[in-house]
Amino acid sequence: MAAGLTIPLGGRPSVGAGLWLQGGIGHLMRLYGLACDAIVGAVVVSVASAQTLCVGHVPEEDQPMGAIRPEDEDDLLWAIRGAGTNFGVVVSVTFKADRAPTYRVRNWLVSLSGDVDARLSLKNLDQKVASRLPRTSSVDAYLYFDTDKMRLAVTMFECATVDCLSEASAALPTLASTIFGQEDSVTMVDGLGMFETEMYMSKMHGGHGGGKTSAFKRCLFLQDIGVVDVADLLVSALRKRPSQLCYLHLLHGGGAVGDVAADGTAFGCRNWNFACVVTGVWPRQQDDTAAARAAIHWVYSIAHELLPLSSGAYAADLGPDPRDAVLATKAFGPNLPRLSRLKRSLDPANVLAYACPLPKVPAKPSPIILVTGEHGAGKDYCAGVWVTEVIAGLHKGFTARAVSISEAIKRDYAAASGADLNSLLQNRAYKERHRETLTNFYYDQVQRQPRLPQQHFLRVVHSAANVDVLFITGMTDEAPVAQLSHLVPDSKLLELLGAVGVGVESIEVLVVAEFPIHRGRELLRQSGFGRVSVQSLLVFGNA
Ligand SMILES: Cc1cc2nc3c(=O)[nH]c(=O)nc-3n(C[C@H](O)[C@H](O)[C@H](O)COP(=O)(O)OP(=O)(O)OC[C@H]3O[C@@H](n4cnc5c(N)ncnc54)[C@H](O)[C@@H]3O)c2cc1C
Repeated sequence: MAAGLTIPLGGRPSVGAGLWLQGGIGHLMRLYGLACDAIVGAVVVSVASAQTLCVGHVPEEDQPMGAIRPEDEDDLLWAIRGAGTNFGVVVSVTFKADRAPTYRVRNWLVSLSGDVDARLSLKNLDQKVASRLPRTSSVDAYLYFDTDKMRLAVTMFECATVDCLSEASAALPTLASTIFGQEDSVTMVDGLGMFETEMYMSKMHGGHGGGKTSAFKRCLFLQDIGVVDVADLLVSALRKRPSQLCYLHLLHGGGAVGDVAADGTAFGCRNWNFACVVTGVWPRQQDDTAAARAAIHWVYSIAHELLPLSSGAYAADLGPDPRDAVLATKAFGPNLPRLSRLKRSLDPANVLAYACPLPKVPAKPSPIILVTGEHGAGKDYCAGVWVTEVIAGLHKGFTARAVSISEAIKRDYAAASGADLNSLLQNRAYKERHRETLTNFYYDQVQRQPRLPQQHFLRVVHSAANVDVLFITGMTDEAPVAQLSHLVPDSKLLELLGAVGVGVESIEVLVVAEFPIHRGRELLRQSGFGRVSVQSLLVFGNA
């Protein structure tokens, strides 16, 4: 990497590939995003086939001889960015680099007079400092005990490169000083020097944990650390610590972390302002003793208490331990169903069994119904009606959804042309005015990215992975079932034409997805389809 560039890695220098493959929370995340967001390509050895795979952008000199591009390349790259320890052995990754700033680092060591003071300090940190910082700055904190006194160690990192400085960031250290008092230290450092200015390394428990220690951590994502129930829980958690060395580390998120859509990468949890790392620490000579077990028990019990107040759990280091199971259900945001399906195809024998557990995909195939037909035939309208009918007619808990596949291209078109996305999605007259340019835009995009239709299809399918029956409208592809079924081997892909403008005279055989309550075949015969052979390919219940 050229001098002057950086990638947003973690807060300490001592961790390896597990960090960037599972997320990567660090001082630069508010400015540049998570470490996994910077991954643009990878070389992976498949645990299903033992083949070497290249995905995304891998410089030619880094491509091993004989490496191939897998059919599910987009899926694998997506999965590596946040759940990358679950799908193969990652030999190398290619990162996108950003400009390396220098930093002004300010440290405050605040003695807390008691629980009320601790809760107030957390509230001030959250509401008066953190929430007002521009994304070029961040403020982290440690809540811990030192010689029986509760303390808050606060570190503010300000990007000090000239074009990062703003009036807002200049005013905030002063505000922080009125809350926390005079800074204990102010230092100018580069990215490497920053590791040493960190409070844990420099101040807490005599610096670097006071010497030789072992630690166990679990991390929850919190939106507000200052609200009463969260602040109460954090302070009482510390009171229950089994040893003096245990602490809570609060890392400031937001900013660029939230710029990526929750389903944009496997990481999934994007909506949080603080990552709370519950850290159990014990002297290394007490490894495997009751003291170590008590610290680990404390970490789990606090993590489980925080979980309902959190917006998710960090998947890093969650594994087959039963105490991780409930945390794992809150990892990866909305992406668990898609990750489960990928796990089944990319690691069918569960070779990587020690990675964050993913729920098993139910074996039953779910139907995906493509609603195709002439322009203006009422495909969206019909799909909406069928969704209501399916939900009303079937047993409780059964779900159905209609999604237009054209939504993705409308988004791209709106971004490229300045057209209004909401009107494109909802206003028929407005959509008609843009129809021709939108169609040309789509074909132009497909020429540049031939796999775009498949990507859009998979995106829609994955976005509705929990749905029992999915209706997809807005398709213009010819013979979509033949083109797309291999992408969804776990589902039954059907095309529905009849009710959307295909006349009875052009039909010989009609295949329906049938629900008992609607008496579908009978209804079709009564509606003029008497001479057509009506068959049910897919029957729900006892029709
Ligand atoms: C002291 C310390 C500080 C930390 N600070 C941060 C931080 O600032 N930000 C943050 O986000 N996290 C942080 N963490 C958490 C850290 O991201 C995880 O512990 C992570 O799993 C460490 O990865 P590793 O490769 O070093 O560890 P390992 O234990 O070697 O690996 C962890 C997991 O990744 C898998 N793995 C490793 N390499 C590969 C590969 N090449 N291909 C496929 N799977 C692989 C392993 O099988 C294992 O399941 C910290 C952890 C510690 C101990």
